[in-house]
Amino acid sequence: MPSPAITLRGVHKRFGEITAVAGLDLDVPAGTCLGLLGPNGAGKSTLIHCTTGLAQPTSGEIRIFGHDALGDYRQARLAVGLSPQELDLDWFLTVRESLDYHAGYFGIPKKERRERAKELLDAFSLTEKADDRTRTLSGGMKRRLVLARALMHRPKLLILDEPTAGVDVELRLELWHYVKQINEEGTTILLTTHYLEEADQLCDRIAFINQGEIVASGTSADLAAKFGSSSLEDAYLALVGRSELSRAHVGADAA
Ligand code: ADP
Ligand code: MG
Repeated sequence: MPSPAITLRGVHKRFGEITAVAGLDLDVPAGTCLGLLGPNGAGKSTLIHCTTGLAQPTSGEIRIFGHDALGDYRQARLAVGLSPQELDLDWFLTVRESLDYHAGYFGIPKKERRERAKELLDAFSLTEKADDRTRTLSGGMKRRLVLARALMHRPKLLILDEPTAGVDVELRLELWHYVKQINEEGTTILLTTHYLEEADQLCDRIAFINQGEIVASGTSADLAAKFGSSSLEDAYLALVGRSELSRAHVGADAA
């Protein structure tokens, strides 16, 4: 059996009095796509920061493809591409430089970097903007660049933290298409989103997170069945205690 892409055991992260991640266990098998869904403040980004070495968990174990992400972080980091929720571009670089420097950190030779950048600029419709400074880009273009950057070193695991929040329909669909393709080619995906349709379309499995804990996980159909509802959306509303918002009720009231 290959090592899972992500293994979390008893991961806690506290910020003073606040417990952001509360003793969480999770396995993401290699080659799968997992959707992490939960309300704002549930602990999704904190969990991702711990998994990618941007934050140190208070306690617990984190493995990336079997490598201890805390002790042997180099190996773990090579395997991961992250598109963070908050755009973290260097505003003084051009689009092309942003991709090139990032790949440089991963020790990719110059020629290969150039070719890979060309490929991703093209895939994310950024070619015309290649020599523009990142600060001059629109919000959607910045998001495209962050996604392309995450992919420069061909990570085996791609982590996308709310990649489609506030983006236009074209980018959302383009991204779905691209994520599906690289997932089919073997890349493992961890995705957080507020769009249930997105999770439904892209993910093999979905985990609901609330107050720093995984409260349910399975396929979209498993989760609907578990919450005694007919759709993933109703299961989600049950999780956050807002079942009265169900579209089924809206329909019933109107009838
Ligand atoms: P999500 O991504 O699910 O919206 P977050 O992981 O951003 O949730 O936040 C989880 C909790 O941790 C929230 O209560 C948030 O306010 C808190 N939190 C996150 N980062 C910090 C930080 N750097 N310092 C203090 N509290 C934080
Ligand atoms: Mg977040």
